[in-house]
Amino acid sequence: MKCQLCNNKAELPEPKLCGKHFINYYDKKVNHALESSNFKNKNVLIGLSGGKDSSALAFALNKLKDKFNLSITLLFIDLKTQDCIEYWKNAAIMLARQHKLTIETIDITDYGKTLKDFENQKRPVCSTCGVIKRYLLNKYAYENGFDFIASGHNLDDAFYFYMKSLYSQKIDDLLKFDKLTLPDNENNLAGRIRPLIYLTEEENRLYCKLNNIEYSSAVCPYSKSSPQTHFKKKNTNLSRTYKYNFVRSIRKLNAKIPPEENKKLHKCSICGYPTSGREKCMFCTLMG
Ligand code: SF4
Ligand code: ZN
Ligand code: ZN
Repeated sequence: MKCQLCNNKAELPEPKLCGKHFINYYDKKVNHALESSNFKNKNVLIGLSGGKDSSALAFALNKLKDKFNLSITLLFIDLKTQDCIEYWKNAAIMLARQHKLTIETIDITDYGKTLKDFENQKRPVCSTCGVIKRYLLNKYAYENGFDFIASGHNLDDAFYFYMKSLYSQKIDDLLKFDKLTLPDNENNLAGRIRPLIYLTEEENRLYCKLNNIEYSSAVCPYSKSSPQTHFKKKNTNLSRTYKYNFVRSIRKLNAKIPPEENKKLHKCSICGYPTSGREKCMFCTLMG
């Protein structure tokens, strides 16, 4: 299988590109994500997990930081996810050292909990993990003057998210998970950018390999019961083009809907961050 642009061996079946042309293709995609969102002069917080996606993102954004005048800080959230957390943490710290990036760490034990405390509860551990990470990332970004949080969500994540929204008839959720969400100061929410939304997990893994980017492939013990892991396993045979067209179609539909004015959301009586109508936000409920 040859590269579609030269005679060298292609690294993946789709896109059929050799290592050198693949890196160009990947960097162009990230560049386009920033350019098309007019993403310049920003103070960006990257949620770095130590896995392939956020590590690839940190490396690619760092390459573009001068062009777009970005100031980049990494944030690692230690949820004490059993043994694998040490591998992820070490990889995150190594990556930061290699590229002279500032890395901050939040430890969930400062809140008196670990992820283990949420086993065997009605809410699946992965869902709790997501609530905690989203909350802490936003809180840190908002309180430390970051305009945007950049996350390593990829095409496979977007495909899963949109499929889940359709299956469960949560149509409003189709409007979420966009490439860019602007900051909402009234509701204490930092902006969000997902520059890898059109790059697959496999492409992120390859980008890390070709650039010798430090990351850990340690598997979280909770992933066995994660609906997302099951969904991804079931759909491994779907082509990149299929997933890309599906996600693009949803986003094209979204573009036809006029954006809603930012509504003032309810504030949590404990922490003051937004809640969906309850008195306490989900984070404070979990930590209570
Ligand atoms: Fe969190 Fe679940 Fe991912 Fe583990 S598999 S890091 S618990 S979301
Ligand atoms: Zn080539
Ligand atoms: Zn709260």
